[in-house]
Amino acid sequence: MLKLALFLIAALGSLYVGNTLAHGDSALEHSTIHITRSLNYDAQKANINPKIVDTIIRVFSWKIDFNKDLKKGDRFIIVGNSGIHPSALIYLGTNKKVAVFSYTDKQGRTNYYDINGKSLYPSFLKAPLKYDRVSSKFQRKRFHPILKTWRPHRAVDFAAKRGTPVYSVASGVIQHRKRMGALGNVVYINHGSNYTSVYGHLSKFARGLKPSSKVKKGQIIGYVGSTGRSTGPHLHYELRYKGIRKNPLKHTLPKQKKVRRADLWRFKNKAQKILNGLHLY
Ligand SMILES: [Zn+2]
Repeated sequence: MLKLALFLIAALGSLYVGNTLAHGDSALEHSTIHITRSLNYDAQKANINPKIVDTIIRVFSWKIDFNKDLKKGDRFIIVGNSGIHPSALIYLGTNKKVAVFSYTDKQGRTNYYDINGKSLYPSFLKAPLKYDRVSSKFQRKRFHPILKTWRPHRAVDFAAKRGTPVYSVASGVIQHRKRMGALGNVVYINHGSNYTSVYGHLSKFARGLKPSSKVKKGQIIGYVGSTGRSTGPHLHYELRYKGIRKNPLKHTLPKQKKVRRADLWRFKNKAQKILNGLHLY
């Protein structure tokens, strides 16, 4: 955020530079979507290719909740109007500003990266703790040891000693941190607007954690316990994608992409030039 603020200030600064350099400083070709109703509606009004709108949703859903965050007056700037791979996509919201820039890798795939050359999506850990064994897999039906009934278990239970640290599987934002019936002490973490990870039966929470706290991948969020409906110390772990519980041991998770080292300097330079060339305010 600070970095963004800094380069937006840099871009603002260029306004003055732009004024003094009145000659030969061609303006960057760009389109703007002014949000009045919804992204799809306003993009259509601004005559933006639907493929670009899809890209905006795919890329920015890691930083923006399109249902909650988008406000009237927010803007999306699309730099470079030709084709379906604009050279930059910039979101200017009331509370957030996010800018990404195109980069085509060696395999010829074009993706969007922040000014530091990293994709907005994070990498995920395979498992949220060092565990002894998987005590209950993700399955449609399992005989519940306490309820004595057959019910689905759309989670993985990891057996581990009480007090074993539990890590956030990826960078994200705490959604809940509370005691919740059968799950006992539970933490919900949102990773972008599509992924949520859930950690149940914790003996205690990590200090200082509260809803809307930011966490990093591998950060301790709590400790294995047996709170709630549980027969012994284990971590009940769920991975939800668009609200649907996925098998965490099988679901293919995103892996953060980075601009190739050899290209990074050129990439950053290009990104900075784009920001400098835009009159953002
Ligand atoms: Zn479980």
